[in-house]
Amino acid sequence: MDPHPLSADARANLDVVLHAIRRAERAAHREAEPVTLIAVSKTFDAEDIQPVLDAGHRVFGENRVQEAQGKWPALREAYEGVELHLIGPLQSNKAADAVALFDVIHTIDRPKIAGAIAKEIEAQGRAPKLFVQVNTGEEEQKAGVAPQDVDAFVKACREQYGLAIEGLMCIPPFDEPPAPHFALLQKFAKRNGLTGLSMGMSADFAEAVPFGATHVRVGSAIFGTRPKA
Ligand SMILES: *Cc1c(COP(=O)(O)O)cnc(C)c1O
Repeated sequence: MDPHPLSADARANLDVVLHAIRRAERAAHREAEPVTLIAVSKTFDAEDIQPVLDAGHRVFGENRVQEAQGKWPALREAYEGVELHLIGPLQSNKAADAVALFDVIHTIDRPKIAGAIAKEIEAQGRAPKLFVQVNTGEEEQKAGVAPQDVDAFVKACREQYGLAIEGLMCIPPFDEPPAPHFALLQKFAKRNGLTGLSMGMSADFAEAVPFGATHVRVGSAIFGTRPKA
């Protein structure tokens, strides 16, 4: 699906992806509001990540709290200005660790998590930016708030839990064209006065840009194919 031949050189791949994002921004007349590239480093070790840090990139995504705890504290010591995004499902017993480690959490999707995160923000005096994950394809196995519950859940996050929600996140079904899902997420965000849109992955990040993506999450197009978990 990736239109560009993937090189073993993550640094070269990073350049290709950044150029494709800048091209998509120009096509969508979005130069004034650039898209943030989250380099998704899940399953990759520190030595795979270092070349991308050396190239000057600082925004990374991980999907497991424990895995991120294992590699990022040392990398943060070595490189200034790292911004870490949690893009995987969150269990409430990991809320304390998640709030302590991550700068942005993309996967708020149920009252129990909203409550646990609110409690930790209060306790730690540290407030990661928050996105609500929406299950736009209404897939049984996928995390996220159902489309019909988005408005009420965002309202509850704000009013009941006192959380400042920044935006919405989705992972479109693997076997469907992503554009209708991007359009739906954009509509939900507008309706709820949210500016952040976390959508678009290796296969479709350029397609997410005209729909207002503020954050694209790109793993394999930068780091290469992941070993099957
Ligand atoms: C792994 C992952 C990505 C990156 O996927 P690629 O197809 O490798 O770019 C993006 N978002 C989430 C939520 C992920 O878990």
